[in-house]
This record gives sequence, C-alpha cells and structure tokens, in this order.
Amino acid sequence: MKILTTPEAMRAWSDAVRAERRTIGFVPTMGALHEGHASLMRAAVAQNDIAVLSVFVNPAQFAPNEDYDQYPRTFDADRAMAQELGMTAIYAPTPQAMYPDGYSTYVDVKGLGDVLCGASRPGHFRGVTTVVAKLFAAVRPHRAYFGQKDAQQVAVIRRMTADLDLGVEIVEMPIVRDADGLALSSRNKYLSPEERVRALGLSRALCLAQAMLEAGEQQAAPVLEAVREVLHEVEVDYVELVDAATLARVERITGPVLLAIAARVGATRLIDNVRFTP
Ligand code: AMP
Repeated sequence: MKILTTPEAMRAWSDAVRAERRTIGFVPTMGALHEGHASLMRAAVAQNDIAVLSVFVNPAQFAPNEDYDQYPRTFDADRAMAQELGMTAIYAPTPQAMYPDGYSTYVDVKGLGDVLCGASRPGHFRGVTTVVAKLFAAVRPHRAYFGQKDAQQVAVIRRMTADLDLGVEIVEMPIVRDADGLALSSRNKYLSPEERVRALGLSRALCLAQAMLEAGEQQAAPVLEAVREVLHEVEVDYVELVDAATLARVERITGPVLLAIAARVGATRLIDNVRFTP
C-alpha cells in the first residue's frame, strides 16, 4: 500500500492511474478509523479499480474553541485497517502541505451550509468544502464515499461537486452503529462509561421518531416533542425535521425528510440522524 504525503505526489500518482484507464474510489476521513469508515472503504474497494483513503485532521473545519488538538490520531492502526481492507493508497498530507503560508482560497456553499450544524458551528462547512475540493483535486477520484452519519455534509458536498463541475460521483453509505444503537464516531472515544450510556438517548430518540413516522404521523411538532423528551439527559444543540434535499424545516411531512440531532454529552458533541420517506 502506497503512502503519499504531498498534493504533488498524490496528483502524480492519480494521473498515472487515470492514464491506465483505471477508476479511483476515494474515502476522505480524519483518521481514528472505526467500522463506519471500514464500510466506506469496503464499498470503494468493491466498486473501483483503485481505492484511496485520506487521513487528514483538517484544521480549517475546527473553530478555535473546538477539539482540533485533542482529536484522536491513530495513524498506525488506521494504516493497518486500510491495508487489511485492500485499500491501494493512503493520502496523509501535513497541515503545512495543505495550507502553506499565503493560503487564501475557500469554498463556501450558501444555504445548505448555513443551517443545522452550520448554524451551531459557523465556518465549519467552509472548512469541509475547502478541504474536500482540495482532496478531490489531488486524488482526482471517479467516486467518493461519505457516510449518512454526516448527512448535511453529504448534501453540502453534493452541491459543491455539482456547482464546481468536479465530475466526482458522490456515494452515500448508511450509518454504522454499535450493537446498542450508538452511531460509531471517532469522538465516542471521549465518552466516559456514564456518558456513553446517556449518549444512547440520541439513537433511542431517533428510533422513536422513526416509529411515529412509520405509524403515519404527518406533523413535525409531535415528533420533535417526543424526541426532545427522550433527550432529557443530554444537552440538545438542535433537533430538526427538514426536507432531505433542501434541509429546509418542514411542518408537515409530504416527501423525504431528515430528522437530525446534535447534542452535547459532557464535553462531547455528538450528531445522529434518520431519513424517512412517507
Ligand atoms: P470523519 O473521519 O469522522 O470525518 O468521517 C469520515 C467519513 O466517515 C465521513 O464521510 C463520515 O460520514 C463517515 N462516517 C463516520 N462515522 C460513520 C458511521 N458511524 N457510519 C457510516 N459512516 C461514518
């Protein structure tokens, strides 16, 4: 498995792969890999000739008060998992290689990037879209794999990819959960045993909401109220029922919707969601 650490080296390698008419599948991550990331890698390996993982903790998507410094970095274990799953290469640039002195260009998706997590983490999606645009430019993938765990991120990246004519097929993979329902996240490492139990409120609330929607509830208000009740042991950042495509709030469910939660458990901010089509 190849390890590439600069945009120039990555680009030269992907150009050579493309010259041989081989397809490139790409899985962008911040490392600290778990089974959620593994599901994206398996799909990338199965559906493409070449599969590239990126591991980059992107400073541009963390606010100054957030966990950039503490974010878990486990490169040796990540490399072993990628190798085991049959990935062809890892792109692991340094922050200096990505954002050298004088770096000045940012990609901003208006609207989709301003609601939900964009409202509570101003500038977050600008950092995400900027780094993904740069990663796409270096890796030049045919397909890129993202998790529904970050459903808003997928919507924002789809929009950016279409708007900037990047020519990358965006593939969304389902949320991978622990046996007890907790959505896997690199940030779950921060949770104490007691916090981990409280964190189960998120998936329990989503299960309840899904059951209500499946039973035919068409109004958002009672669903949101029931969800908030289950979430009484965590500090809710937002609970929103939005149109799955536009992320605009809905009051009556007539088409595909996304029920999204962000909440703090102790110092750890967790997100989770469920999609529903009536
Ligand atoms: P991250 O390393 O947290 O930035 O995540 C990298 C990619 O893995 C993103 O596309 C995430 O949506 C995806 N991912 C993270 N957790 C999960 C999960 N539990 N299930 C599926 N995909 C996930």
